[in-house]
Amino acid sequence: PNDPDSMFKVGFLADVYQERSSERVITRFPPEPNGYLHIGHSKAIAINFGFARYHGGECYLRFDDTNPAGEEKEFDDSIEETVRWLGFTPKRITHSSDNFDRLYELAEVLIQKDGAYVCHCTKAQIVDQRGGGDGKKPRYACPHRSRPILESLTEFRAMRDGKYKPNGAALRMKQNLEDGNPQMWDLFAYRIPRKKEEEADELLEEDREDAKEEDTKEEDLAPHHYRTGDKWKIYPTYDFTHCLCDSFEGITHSLCTVEFELSRVSYEWLNNKLVDHKPMQREYGRLSMSGTVLSKRKIQKLVQDKHVRSWDDPRLYTLPALRRRGIPPGAILSFVNELGVTKATSNIEIKRFETSVRRYLEMTVPRLMLVLDPIKVVIDDLPDDHLEMLELPFSKDPAYGVHTVPFTKTVYIERSDFREVDSPDYFRMAPGKPVGLMKVPYPITATTFEKHPESGQVTVVHARYERPAEGEKPLKPKSFIHWVASSPTRKSPITAEVRIINPLFNSDNPAAHPSGFLADINPTSEEIFPNAMIETGFEEIRRRAPWPAEAGENGSDSEGVVAGPETVRFQGMRMGYFCVDGDSEAGMEGVVLNRIVSLKEDTGK
Ligand code: ATP
Ligand code: MG
Ligand code: MG
Repeated sequence: PNDPDSMFKVGFLADVYQERSSERVITRFPPEPNGYLHIGHSKAIAINFGFARYHGGECYLRFDDTNPAGEEKEFDDSIEETVRWLGFTPKRITHSSDNFDRLYELAEVLIQKDGAYVCHCTKAQIVDQRGGGDGKKPRYACPHRSRPILESLTEFRAMRDGKYKPNGAALRMKQNLEDGNPQMWDLFAYRIPRKKEEEADELLEEDREDAKEEDTKEEDLAPHHYRTGDKWKIYPTYDFTHCLCDSFEGITHSLCTVEFELSRVSYEWLNNKLVDHKPMQREYGRLSMSGTVLSKRKIQKLVQDKHVRSWDDPRLYTLPALRRRGIPPGAILSFVNELGVTKATSNIEIKRFETSVRRYLEMTVPRLMLVLDPIKVVIDDLPDDHLEMLELPFSKDPAYGVHTVPFTKTVYIERSDFREVDSPDYFRMAPGKPVGLMKVPYPITATTFEKHPESGQVTVVHARYERPAEGEKPLKPKSFIHWVASSPTRKSPITAEVRIINPLFNSDNPAAHPSGFLADINPTSEEIFPNAMIETGFEEIRRRAPWPAEAGENGSDSEGVVAGPETVRFQGMRMGYFCVDGDSEAGMEGVVLNRIVSLKEDTGK
């Protein structure tokens, strides 16, 4: 792994620190609890928690829960778990809703300072006031802008008390319509939220009709908030909430993504009006992945239509999915750090991400032999009860230790390592050609093979053990293949279902597919090998997980590893990196593995 601090030492983040280096750093990661975190969020987490850690400060996890429709406790819990899994410990966990009373009071203060007014314009009217759809017409103030302060105050309280329906009234900040920045054109400060169903623009007409009918029931007007319940009928907007909560919490560096660049002006405008402590907002480039979809609505559709099994399906790029797939959190932090931080968006290919993960795994996980698609090999000249215990290191690094595996008369090899007909340019197993079994003292040579009468598949290969006669030199095979022996007394092999994870989409930009992103789905995004076999060292790997190299995760601020089945990771020699999936049963029966990544790019297998 790389130097986890390099992104804080030079460049964008170092400059941001220099702008305000006299105070103890306090940052926050501010997700909205309306979905699961995805790979893009790992950058925001690494930046906010890492920046604070590097400068000896603190980082808070703040749930920005100001849109009750769509926010849920389940997402709140999942996000916190994911932050801890990535290796960070929030110094405090806060919610924007903790401040609803205080925010409300400040909204009244703003009205009293003639900094806000209650407006009853429709969406279309406001667009027109802001210069029309293309912004080319002159901008103008609406009639409500100049209403008396006391009238706005009364109306704002009426909003609070439930007098209005969504769109019936909103509190707008009295900013500067002359300013060229649209973020100064009297942004909303408080609104009466609609229920989620009404917002979805993909709704069927009939659903929409239903929603309208429901809407007429008074008690249904305001959605339920997962923390404050039905206490509030009005909710503060992002523009009103974020800067004030940053100030309340004493945030020094408010780091966010570049789409908020224009918002910096309104952020400062509002804090200047209402509070003393003034955090500094700075904007960095987003991390996006090509070849996948990250939008909640699209992933929801994939889950609903059963293209994937759940939000944490290993083919997705949500963080719970990457976790289940076995990607170590340190590999994600290392990847983010490698990309560095600037104001530019990084659009990353899946391939590049996988290369980074592979590099990380190579140095941190033990090795085993695993046969994905086994074919039986009987070494005819070994006695039926032949049992030899062979010693195998867990890694090139001696610190990982060794384990033993049985070698017997019957072994299983990879189907793709056998050919019925030999050729001079082929070096694995074929009739008449000696091949090495990794760590076995002498090579074996295939003599004959049997086939299934109907399918034509090879069922058994017969072989001879090439033990040299007295005084002769042993044969030197051209290549070595992995294998697993059959030994009932040693409980070998351990059988497993292995899920190979391929790209979920065919193209780099599924969203651009003319028939919609679902039409771009790769039909073989998951390949299942139900009869895979693992050598007995797996038991020890499972017992010892997580392995020491993973414990001090790269760039995190905690030492511990969050437990989970996926922390049982290993390299299946010649086959890739694997981890245990949560679908596994507790014992050694019913093991399910995910292949995290292949050993090399584009090997197919
Ligand atoms: P999405 O719509 O993808 O969920 P969001 O901005 O609505 O994104 P939030 O949960 O509100 O998601 O984001 C929490 C924090 O993570 C914000 O500071 C946001 O800027 C940051 N963030 C979100 N997506 C990315 C990304 N792709 N790259 C970097 N930071 C991101
Ligand atoms: Mg979000
Ligand atoms: Mg958001």
